[in-house]
Amino acid sequence: MSTIDELRAGTGTLVAGLPMPTFRRIQVEPISGACGCEISGVDLREPLDDATLQEIMKAFEHFLVIVFRDQNLTPEQHKAFSRYFGPITELPQAPTYGEHSDMQEVRREAHEPENVVPSFEHFHTDSPFLERPPLCIVMRALDVPKYGGDTAFSNAYLIYEHLSDGMKELLDGLQVVYSGKDIWSRNEKLPPEKRLRLRESHSFREEELENIHPAVRVHPVTGRKALFATTAYFKRFVGWSEAESRALVNYLQSLAQHLHYHCRVKWKKDTLIVWDNRFLLHRGIHDFKYERRHLIRTTIMGERPLGVKDLPLKNS
Ligand code: MN
Repeated sequence: MSTIDELRAGTGTLVAGLPMPTFRRIQVEPISGACGCEISGVDLREPLDDATLQEIMKAFEHFLVIVFRDQNLTPEQHKAFSRYFGPITELPQAPTYGEHSDMQEVRREAHEPENVVPSFEHFHTDSPFLERPPLCIVMRALDVPKYGGDTAFSNAYLIYEHLSDGMKELLDGLQVVYSGKDIWSRNEKLPPEKRLRLRESHSFREEELENIHPAVRVHPVTGRKALFATTAYFKRFVGWSEAESRALVNYLQSLAQHLHYHCRVKWKKDTLIVWDNRFLLHRGIHDFKYERRHLIRTTIMGERPLGVKDLPLKNS
């Protein structure tokens, strides 16, 4: 790995905000300067040896989005690979994939309008209203449009790191109320052609669908800080009025749009992507019509989000 001194001397490479790690077992090609890489030289149908797995995890931590091409997996192979990242969890709202209640699908038929998929036309993290929101999503393409239907990602570490000291200090002490309680009732009020395709039944209790989380989230191992405040499922900041909360969260949401935090991945059949759902935002891009798009996924349970005040004090 290159050091900051090597970077200054022009002999190292900075990518995703940190020096580029070295890899020996896998080939790693960064997608942009901000996040994301393509990994080749790995067959995910087979169990992985420890050294290869360690390098995949290193790439995942560094780039937040890792892309594998030509991975023709069975659902069982997909789940087996997913479990390297943690336990697979169900979601209350996302439609499941066939008989697999522990997999979800994002499916838009060729004749269907753009709004049918439970994806948002803005950057978001999945299910932040849960007590332990997902750590990552493992998604594989079965059927994709010839052109379009990419997924875009925005690095929330970089968003936070580019804020002023004053804004960082304000956000470090803030907490967010996230709620998924009214997704179904809101959906029912929409005219049929505007409704999302949501899961019809689930075993989550009502009180599990609302939680308070820190606005700035800290990585449990590295201590790196990232913005964890976006508009999806957002109710308000704790101790703030709705109007005040909305003004600030809309400003923060606008920061995620900056291209210098992004990468964008073009799907092909059998492309598999693992993306971090804690320190990264994502969104599907529905810039296609009259073609089918069908992606299947698992969701990995994350830790309860840690805030700045959960960090161990350095001098105590
Ligand atoms: Mn999503």
